[in-house]
Amino acid sequence: MTGDKLTEIYELLYEYFGPQHWWPGQSALEIIVGAVLTQNANWGNVEKAINNLKAAKSLSTERLYNMDIPELAQLIRPAGYYNLKAGRLKNFINCLVEDFNGELCALRKLDTERLREKLLSIKGIGPETADSILLYAFEKPVFVVDAYTARIATRHGLIEPAADYETLRDLFQSNLPQETQLFNEYHALLVRVGKEFCRPRPKCVGCPLEKLPHDTQAENL
Ligand code: SF4
Repeated sequence: MTGDKLTEIYELLYEYFGPQHWWPGQSALEIIVGAVLTQNANWGNVEKAINNLKAAKSLSTERLYNMDIPELAQLIRPAGYYNLKAGRLKNFINCLVEDFNGELCALRKLDTERLREKLLSIKGIGPETADSILLYAFEKPVFVVDAYTARIATRHGLIEPAADYETLRDLFQSNLPQETQLFNEYHALLVRVGKEFCRPRPKCVGCPLEKLPHDTQAENL
């Protein structure tokens, strides 16, 4: 049963690594900004960009709304692709201010599917970013998948190598209890094992999932 396999993977990872305390943001807005900035960037550089925003007293909806893109781009420069990401952040903030009076709690009140559609309708917000926002900023029971998830699920025979984002998300979303805290921890644990063991060149010896059937020749396409 897929649910049993997913639960076993979770338990092995949790036993080995313990709780991961994600997401490292002090407010829903900071988590959203981080989710946009972390695309193609390591977290250390995202933190530098967020610290720049804080130092400039600009990590607020009002400041971000009134700031022009070049100024914002300079502040978030450490996160890379700063012009593109400044535009994406502005797209989100403009939607928040113009459609929801600048109130994150008004967005949060939407049901999960409508909120996901709304986020995906914002230019530059793709499925992984939208789901990260839903789970970590709005605490909705939505499973976030990424390249680590795809690699581990493929190597452990849980999905076909050609599975797309939605198929992968549905695998976890449909076979686990719909619990925000579980989804939060599970995603963080997959990232951890992906970074430390399940790299492109895997280190199966000593990996917490070593005893489970796996095939390192299977790669997500
Ligand atoms: S490193 Fe090996 S045992 Fe660990 S998750 Fe990847 S394929 Fe599985």
